[in-house]
Amino acid sequence: MHMTDDSTTTLSLDEVRGLARSVFVAAGVDEHGSAVLADLVRMSERDGPRSHGLRMLPVYAQSFASGYANPAANPSVERIAPGVLRGDGDNGYYQIVAAKARNELIEMARENGVAAFSCANCHHLGALRFDTGSLAEAGLVALGVVNSLSMVVPQGGVRPVFGTNPMSFACPRPGGEPVVWDQASSMVALMDIRMAAAEGHDLPRPAGLDPEGQPTRDPNAILETRSLLPFGEHKGAAIAFLIEVLGAALAGGTLSVDNAKREAHGALNIKGGNTLIAIDPARFGNEAFGEYVQRICGEIEGNGDARVPGDGRLKNRAAAEADGVSVTAELMAQLRELQ
Ligand code: NDP
Repeated sequence: MHMTDDSTTTLSLDEVRGLARSVFVAAGVDEHGSAVLADLVRMSERDGPRSHGLRMLPVYAQSFASGYANPAANPSVERIAPGVLRGDGDNGYYQIVAAKARNELIEMARENGVAAFSCANCHHLGALRFDTGSLAEAGLVALGVVNSLSMVVPQGGVRPVFGTNPMSFACPRPGGEPVVWDQASSMVALMDIRMAAAEGHDLPRPAGLDPEGQPTRDPNAILETRSLLPFGEHKGAAIAFLIEVLGAALAGGTLSVDNAKREAHGALNIKGGNTLIAIDPARFGNEAFGEYVQRICGEIEGNGDARVPGDGRLKNRAAAEADGVSVTAELMAQLRELQ
């Protein structure tokens, strides 16, 4: 750890993990759960999005302190159909259940060709890319979704129905890191709207509704209504719908419109439902699957300024591994208090 100047500290990724681990242990999470969640924080700081890294620790801590999330969760996983694995998070964090389910899901996909893990009664998943990415590292194609807190209006609507509902896709890429991307269903992330408000400028295009129900570029008006527009107009709204169904409805999780309980705890984290689908390409009968992926990526690389979706994370990773990550003095002070 070293101070870069008065306002920032640079941490190595091991230090990030150590700091996160000590915050989780102090909050009452056991050694295993703390290690799983600390690793998620480390990966988010390494690859991005950093909004799901160290900055999330006060949110996790508050969710435990307020009684909204269970630090001593004892999650369970049960195979309820040949291709379906169901998880119950015992009101703890999703990644702890997912760590328990991952190997069985991989085995099921290799056996059946397709298998799914669906999980409810669990809190904030973080960035979806790590869920799908770990399956692609095992040679599988993966599709993951999670619903969140209602903030996105249906196309033409005036009231939020969907969460920022992200989805993620990953597949193995012969001779390289897997292709992994994840994206929210809103046109602009809530974080970016907060940032524009703090910096005092309008958004490049309308990204939410003002109090009169009109699309606006004014970040403060959007923060007042908490009504974001979906990406791609009706097409993004349809994807948000799909995620609400595959996430909350299949899993029996909390609908994005039903997160009122969190308000009662003053919590900021999200409790939804999610589904992770694993596909074994070796079971689909095309021996040249990997070559197809290479061809598709090859057509994108070197094509003007295009890049394979999600490859930006590999640049972030190289930089964070070489130089560590910088953390503001304000956040460091906040985190020290939580240890
Ligand atoms: P972005 O719009 O920043 O990026 C979406 C995806 O597109 C990323 O995989 C990104 O990867 C890729 N990408 C961005 N620009 C390009 C480009 N020019 N060419 C090719 N690919 C590109 O992300 P969002 O704001 O939509 O989502 C942010 C994150 O927040 C996600 O990780 C998501 O999982 C998470 N999230 C979690 C929620 C939860 O409740 N758990 C709710 C909502 C979001 P890269 O830039 O690395 O190439």
